[in-house]
Amino acid sequence: MKTYMENKISEQEGYFGIYGGQFIGDELKAEFDSIYEQFLKLKSDESFQKELADLLEHFSCRPTPVYFAKNLSKKAGCEIYLKREDLNHTGAHKINHSLGEALLAKRIGKKKVIAETGAGQHGVAIATAAALLGLECDIYMGEVDIKKAMPNVNRMKILGANVISVRHGQMTLKEAVDAAFEAYQREYKTALYTIGSVVGPHPFPTIVEYFQSVIGKESREQFLEMTGQLPDCVIACVGGGSNSIGMFDGFIDDKEVKIYGVEPLGKGEKIGENAASLTYGREGILHGFKCLLLQNEDNTVADAYSVASGLDYPGVGPKHCYLKDIGRVEYKTINDKEAIDAFYELSRTEGIIPALESSHAVAYGLKIAKDNKGKKILISLSGRGDKDIEFVLENYPRKF
Ligand SMILES: *Cc1c(COP(=O)(O)O)cnc(C)c1O
Repeated sequence: MKTYMENKISEQEGYFGIYGGQFIGDELKAEFDSIYEQFLKLKSDESFQKELADLLEHFSCRPTPVYFAKNLSKKAGCEIYLKREDLNHTGAHKINHSLGEALLAKRIGKKKVIAETGAGQHGVAIATAAALLGLECDIYMGEVDIKKAMPNVNRMKILGANVISVRHGQMTLKEAVDAAFEAYQREYKTALYTIGSVVGPHPFPTIVEYFQSVIGKESREQFLEMTGQLPDCVIACVGGGSNSIGMFDGFIDDKEVKIYGVEPLGKGEKIGENAASLTYGREGILHGFKCLLLQNEDNTVADAYSVASGLDYPGVGPKHCYLKDIGRVEYKTINDKEAIDAFYELSRTEGIIPALESSHAVAYGLKIAKDNKGKKILISLSGRGDKDIEFVLENYPRKF
């Protein structure tokens, strides 16, 4: 556990322990501080809360159910419950913060949202929210990712977004973030940067966490109502860390609830083979904030890899780094093969095809079920697997 002094540091605005912060130029700092101030005001503004709640309920079908996975539970010897974020409009939890951020943009007088996307999941969610709220939408995406994720590119185009191809470096997510950030620096007076997870400089991790905390808040109430108890443990996958932090927020003060974050081990433990930043990362700065970061021996940012493209970011949200340091959350890993196994297992025992990202959380739940007979396990099912079907059939076909 941390000493008093170290906990004091965590109370500094925008820091979680030694992580987070705002490693950006002065002009943007002033803009970000102003965005944060306006966000804090809106948080206690009744009409903002009402509009957001209405969108979540009627546009995105919240509250999403907690589902008791009876067949899987029987096989595993545990009680397994799934928080069904896959049932959100657009098929994942990303719509929660996208609606929040787009509404924030509109309320603070911006005309446009700017975002980056890797596999296109965040791009589709933001383009959806922008269409609904009448905002222009520029999405930066690496040329390599554009070719790989054509269905999502087409969705964004239909929704009216400009998809801007980034053609330098590796032409994937990292370059797309750099390009989006550069564009934002030119356009911040009329646009809001709408980041895709609990990452980036302060105040973005805090803003995105706030909009995702609906997952944990609902889950806690629903679980108590269903079972009369709290779960014994709660599990979620960690890419940037937004669905997980949203889920964990509901249970963080319940000391008796064990909390596990699951990182992608990809092909193995070597740097470059995985995207497990909390497990193999070292303190570093990326995209304007400090976190545990996957780095090569010469301290350059390492390539991140996972079979689940939504998890392959070399950094991770600063609050997760802090929760790891103080020991409140345990971070574990699941490799590609284990995730694929869980993808098929959930599909075939429950009739629910999970996203490959979410399959990591399911896999870890099944793994610990063996040593936790009879216990109640709650898993964040962050998204549905429709987007992964072709890839899985092509690369990991399975008969029975
Ligand atoms: C993007 C994505 C993730 C990873 O993002 P987090 O910010 O870590 O939640 C997980 N699951 C799905 C379905 C996603 O689309």
